[in-house]
Amino acid sequence: MTALITGSARGIGAAIALRLAKDGFDIAFNDVSEKSFEDNDIVDRVRALGVQAEVFIADVSKFEQCEDMTKAVKERFGTIDVLVNNAGITRDTLMVKMTPDMYDLVIAVNQKSVFNMMKLVCEIMRKQKHGHIINLASVTGLYGNPGQVNYAASKAAIIGMTKTVAKEYGSRGITCNAVAPGFIHTPMTDQLTEEQKQRMLSQIAMKRYGEPEEIASVVSFLASEDSSYVTGQVIEISGGLSM
Ligand code: NAP
Repeated sequence: MTALITGSARGIGAAIALRLAKDGFDIAFNDVSEKSFEDNDIVDRVRALGVQAEVFIADVSKFEQCEDMTKAVKERFGTIDVLVNNAGITRDTLMVKMTPDMYDLVIAVNQKSVFNMMKLVCEIMRKQKHGHIINLASVTGLYGNPGQVNYAASKAAIIGMTKTVAKEYGSRGITCNAVAPGFIHTPMTDQLTEEQKQRMLSQIAMKRYGEPEEIASVVSFLASEDSSYVTGQVIEISGGLSM
């Protein structure tokens, strides 16, 4: 059984890779450049668990690169049983200051990539007659967040895409779900100002940030047969941010 995880060199993606490897999956890592893997040992840590692991470099916002990567993963591992669309970026600022380029880049990397990968991998999963897709949305896509109109648009779109693909492929043995993390400790959130961090914290019922492993454990459930009758759902993992 093989899991392909986009943007998995670090952060939540790396935690998901580790967790799915513990669950027994061979891991197809992806990131946008070799450099992303240089200063960490995530691939070695996964291999040490006794599963196969390989790195596939591709910019997931580019359809042709996704096509080459999907083909290479299928050739290397034989099947793609789980796809985790995790790669994501932010270019935050209030809309008044946001340039069209900042908007387009976030949509391309966060949203178009999910179309690219689901379109390609669903064909493989359809022939296999099984597969699980898990998309990384965000609480920002559910509730909005000042300074993130581009990011909110991309994550809200992912929710609509998840439900649509669940409906299109439900009868083919493919489940498609999303997780919507709140504020999780990763390099992405390290970029926020202290004021932004404190504002988020004050709104979280559990009064702490989440850890990447707490996203990975829900992804593990959605990638397993324990969730065989769960599809088209969005699971919020936010320590009670929205209540
Ligand atoms: P992160 O630490 O910034 O990691 C994102 C990874 O995606 C990086 O390894 C990055 O590569 C890679 N990437 C960026 N652009 C790519 C591209 N075009 N093609 C392939 N890979 C690409 O982010 P994270 O915090 O772990 O977030 C992971 C996912 O969870 C994202 O979709 C994010 O929106 C979502 N999320 C995160 C939080 C949070 O609080 N952290 C909350 C809600 C949702 P480089 O290292 O080369 O840049």
